[in-house]
Amino acid sequence: MPTNLITATYLIAAIFFIWSLGGLSSNVGARKGLWFGITGMVLAVSVTILNTDVVNYVLIAITMAIGSAIGLILATRVQMVQMPQLVAILHSLVGLAAVLIGYGGYMDDSLQLTGVEKTIHDIEVYIGIYIGAFTFSGSVMAFGKLSTLLNAKPVLLPARHYLNLLMFITVIIFGWIFVTPSTPEMAYIALYIMTALGIIFGIHMVLAIGGADMPVVISMLNSYSGWAAAATGFMLSNDLLIIVGALVGSSGAILSYIMCKAMNRNFFSVISGGFGTLTKTTASTSGEQIEVSNIDVAQTATLLLQAKKIVIVPGYGMAVAQAQHAVSGVTQLLMSQGVNVRFGIHPVAGRMPGHMNVLLAEAKIPYDAVFEMEQINPDFGNVDVSIVIGANDTVNPSALTDPDSPIAGMPVLEVWRGKTTIVLKRSMAQGYSGVENPLFGKENTRMLFGDAKTTMDALLLKLS
Ligand code: NDP
Repeated sequence: MPTNLITATYLIAAIFFIWSLGGLSSNVGARKGLWFGITGMVLAVSVTILNTDVVNYVLIAITMAIGSAIGLILATRVQMVQMPQLVAILHSLVGLAAVLIGYGGYMDDSLQLTGVEKTIHDIEVYIGIYIGAFTFSGSVMAFGKLSTLLNAKPVLLPARHYLNLLMFITVIIFGWIFVTPSTPEMAYIALYIMTALGIIFGIHMVLAIGGADMPVVISMLNSYSGWAAAATGFMLSNDLLIIVGALVGSSGAILSYIMCKAMNRNFFSVISGGFGTLTKTTASTSGEQIEVSNIDVAQTATLLLQAKKIVIVPGYGMAVAQAQHAVSGVTQLLMSQGVNVRFGIHPVAGRMPGHMNVLLAEAKIPYDAVFEMEQINPDFGNVDVSIVIGANDTVNPSALTDPDSPIAGMPVLEVWRGKTTIVLKRSMAQGYSGVENPLFGKENTRMLFGDAKTTMDALLLKLS
């Protein structure tokens, strides 16, 4: 295929990816966005294969078949609640690919570069491998934490910031050695040491992050995987990879910024590796008993039928219980009786950005009934009943009242300001960040214990 045609098709594919991002930015356009993305990817892969440099089609067919089979199996088997760890492990593959392509590109003898061109290529290889290495190990650690194979609590080594700084300076020094090596072996030694330091940095960075800060890590790793891809694009002189990498890198960085704002964390201290500073424990985490008032399904149904304004606040527990369809049923029933039912979504509810929006869309909850935290918070004073379904950290008042809390300063959905709050959960267990929740003990809070789906099914039966 002529190079001009390849470049032109790459450009068209890039436009499709930009349209895709535009579509994915709203629930209404998400389906279209997905198809734009698929079209862009089919175009990109097709013309890459048709490139005259590609000679071994059998090898490509075999690897694509294996990759597609794994992807298909994962896509059909993975539960929605396992999606965050799947995303994390997929990011690790982007990092690993950048490392392997970097090594491949450096070992490739067919490239006979000299002078400035060689230096630039070497710098691209070095940076690409470094970003890839810490994206790889950091994503594996994030996978471990999200799938609870690893403890969500931060592991804080003494002088960890200095350790990171020392590793970074060492990487720069070895970068110099790599670009101006005394012998070819020395260049490889520099490359190996830098790769090892990149892997250690990724592990150290993510291990130091506490449960409450994980949303930022997920979006940062998303961003890093984009920059790793862009660096690979520079190495391979592939314009499309550069554009797509930059799109993923910058959109991930914007998402991280939004997450930081949502959690009241400082973006710059986060990107410089200042995670996990929240180590204090408080009286509220010391296992003190909270006295609660219970409510049953029948009483809840009566309360809901008397209410004029209801706000439903979903959280991770709704995803675990797969209660969204039952929630949708209850919502439709109440709406048909003239009750104003709205949903309040916290930006970090669940275990990945947009987690709740996806579940609610899947259950066909009308988009115009779904509100962001900032939109719904001022109105809680007028709400008759707030129903908290498997949410905990995102409705914890201690974020606003206890400066020593690990989630101090994080804006939360202020459900307690409504007339009555009903909390659906199975026990008094804590949320992801491991903090007790004084909401459960408030005078106007009623606990409806049990699995969210079982409870919502029972409620639906009672209401119909
Ligand atoms: P939380 O993790 O704070 O709480 C979830 C609650 O759901 C638990 O208290 C649990 O209580 C309850 N639950 C679990 N299973 C069920 C079930 N089957 N039925 C009913 N209840 C159930 O959830 P939130 O959504 O409020 O907060 C999200 C947390 O996750 C935040 O701390 C956020 O920082 C963090 N996080 C968010 C990410 C993101 O990108 N959105 C990424 C990584 C972490 P019980 O066991 O008693 O039922």
